[in-house]
Amino acid sequence: MPVLWYVVQAAYIAVAILFILGLKAMSSPVTAKRGIMWAGVGMVVAVLVTFLYPSTSGPSTGWPVLFHADKVLNLVLILVAIGLGGGTAWWLGKVVKMTDMPQMVAVYNGMGGGAAALIAAVEFARGEVHTTIVAILAVLGSLIGAVAFSGSVIAFAKLQGIMKKAHRLPAQNLVNIVVALVAVVLGVVIVALAGNPDFAVLWAILLIVFFVVAAALGVIVTSPIGGADMPVVISLLNAFTGLAVGFEGYVLGNPALIIAGIVVGASGTLLTQLMAKAMNRPITNVIFTPITGEAVGGSIEGTMKETTAMDAAAAMRYAEKVIVCPGYGMAVAGAQHKVWELTKLLEEVGTEVKFAIHPVAGRMPGHMNVLLAEAGVPYDMSFDLDEINDEFPTADVALVIGANDTVNPVARTDKSSPIYGMPILDADKAQQCIVIKRGQGTGYSGVQNALFFAENTNMLYGSAQQAVADIITALKTLM
Ligand code: NDP
Repeated sequence: MPVLWYVVQAAYIAVAILFILGLKAMSSPVTAKRGIMWAGVGMVVAVLVTFLYPSTSGPSTGWPVLFHADKVLNLVLILVAIGLGGGTAWWLGKVVKMTDMPQMVAVYNGMGGGAAALIAAVEFARGEVHTTIVAILAVLGSLIGAVAFSGSVIAFAKLQGIMKKAHRLPAQNLVNIVVALVAVVLGVVIVALAGNPDFAVLWAILLIVFFVVAAALGVIVTSPIGGADMPVVISLLNAFTGLAVGFEGYVLGNPALIIAGIVVGASGTLLTQLMAKAMNRPITNVIFTPITGEAVGGSIEGTMKETTAMDAAAAMRYAEKVIVCPGYGMAVAGAQHKVWELTKLLEEVGTEVKFAIHPVAGRMPGHMNVLLAEAGVPYDMSFDLDEINDEFPTADVALVIGANDTVNPVARTDKSSPIYGMPILDADKAQQCIVIKRGQGTGYSGVQNALFFAENTNMLYGSAQQAVADIITALKTLM
């Protein structure tokens, strides 16, 4: 066995360790940056080692196959692809706003799923699928990969606001099931006929139809989904991509792909479960009875009462305890630095301030933790929903900044509401609630918010950054 073989295998074990340690470190905001570095280094090693890997099956010149004279064009093409892909991702990572991250994740998901499906297509075309088990995994990987690709394209279009409406077909669930069955049957036939020269043409046609049906499945399953279910869908598609990549890693015999795929698939599945639990929406409901995102409600009684920055500042100046509930509006306005400035002023006058973080606040998991940490808010001031909810009745003020669905009491009370059952931050239970938002718009799910009409709620209209700046100015006059 050439020495290089041992080097490659050892490198793959190192890659697996780096991925796992990286993921573990990402579970806490304190170590998350380090975790991303480790996983990134693991990815670089995996890519580099893949250049060496083909040597194990190549001629024993001691050089990896890709470095042989007749493969120079392949090497150049791969390097150009890495340069283009890596360069684009680097640039996007720098310019994409934090609030647009879910779209970026959708694009990455789609690329991963599409790449997995393409690998299977190329391996089939090259006649490299030799055993039944490899054929089954190739078909499974391409089915899941194609669904993840087209589903992610739709998710991107929705999150980016390109596709504004949820499109529901008549008998949608039946259509989903029939199309899925057609894809599975095609897959079974493709596996059965693989390598049989008598059916070569039919087989090639079936393969093309199979990819089209799989891609159509991703589109029709994702199109009706909108509103508050989108985070769960993105996470589910991410898990799909991981699975597809893992299967194709087996087809190619590449351990790095298998490891990366399994890690992404497993962590994506766990994240999907956690998010579905956080929103009290079983995965089956997300797919079969989606929240459409079209405005509903409006029958809530009462009126929204407007307040001023000075009144809001006074309420908090003389409060013993303030709980801040940040949401998407704070993120989009980039108000986190002002919020931290306000917090420090309140602490100076002896007011206790805590941050209540809903698991799906903003537009991505951990969105609020990242923004607040970036602004300098210490980690021990931020509390998860379970940790803080009992404290709202003891708070003098709940300051809701650009949050809507995550503080909507309708989720507790209205069985007919699409967000019924989603756990919410109990901001309505504070002595007084001050809500900062620009106008009377609904949240992401399109559901009207009963909190804004409550007796103890006052609305401070304005963009979050300016509104908090106005409160700071007013507060300074009261110190
Ligand atoms: P919502 O999206 O429900 O509501 C945000 C509110 O912010 C809006 O009502 C809007 O009202 C207000 N707003 C918008 N811009 C500004 C601004 N510049 N200044 C002040 N306010 C502003 O926010 P939540 O964070 O409460 O809920 C998140 C929602 O997003 C949930 O439904 C969740 O399911 C969904 N989601 C979450 C993802 C995740 O992973 N976290 C991913 C994808 C979706 P107005 O227009 O009147 O200002």
